[in-house]
Amino acid sequence: MRCSKCKERAIAYLKPYRIALCGKCYPEFYLRLVERSVKKYGILKRKERILACVSGGKDSSAMVVALKMLGFNVEILHIDLGIGDYSKKSRKIVEELAEGIDVPFHVVELAEYGFTIDGVDVKKVCSVCGTAKRYLMNRFARENGFDVIATGHTAEDIILFFFKNVLSGGIEWIPKLVPRSEGGGGFVSKARPLFERSEKENILFVLAEGIPFLADECPHAPRDAWKEIIYDIEAKRPGFKQNFVRGLVRLAKNVKVDENWELRRCKVCGEPSSSEVCAFCRYVMKFKK
Ligand SMILES: [Zn+2]
Ligand SMILES: [Zn+2]
Repeated sequence: MRCSKCKERAIAYLKPYRIALCGKCYPEFYLRLVERSVKKYGILKRKERILACVSGGKDSSAMVVALKMLGFNVEILHIDLGIGDYSKKSRKIVEELAEGIDVPFHVVELAEYGFTIDGVDVKKVCSVCGTAKRYLMNRFARENGFDVIATGHTAEDIILFFFKNVLSGGIEWIPKLVPRSEGGGGFVSKARPLFERSEKENILFVLAEGIPFLADECPHAPRDAWKEIIYDIEAKRPGFKQNFVRGLVRLAKNVKVDENWELRRCKVCGEPSSSEVCAFCRYVMKFKK
């Protein structure tokens, strides 16, 4: 198979675009895709100070490198969750990446708050982890004057979220499926510049660019049957994932959800919260040794 642009040996054939590309032509193609999404959906603005949350996995690593190459004003936040060797390796890789692309590196350790994910002895570790990440990134971004938080969510992540939450009746989640949500009331705006990108597109970019990333899965991550279903559909209907997430943007715009819940301040930490004590502080109380 030959590259459709330069006739060198191709590294991949991209079905949704009907194009084969080599390692030299692919990164440029990928960057244009990211740039187009960002412009079309107003995901990021040129003058904004962007805090990119980078775990060390392929997706968030691809995101921060792409944003830097596209000339955005970006800094890296890595959240050290204290998941044994996995967290140690992740942190090292993100530090190396930050240095390689000359982007300021910040780290927040969950341990500073008195517990780590390894010390959480409940079944639903992933929901504790998700709450902790959202809390820590928002607080860090606001306290340090960032305009927007960028995360490496992919099309697969958005569709998974839809299947798990919306299909089980949670229509209040639909407005969260947008590529950019505006902040307010103590929340910093959130951006998902890779919402139209697939994991395959991201991994091809990190491999072609030689970007350091951690291939290991989080030891707590369960095998996800939904993910395999998404791949099965994509295999039979190339382009399904992109069409689906674009459709969700239109759906999200047209769904009005009752936003009458009262936004308060957590009486322990002062962060915005829907209850008297925020979910993060409740976990701190529960898991702190
Ligand atoms: Zn080429
Ligand atoms: Zn709190």
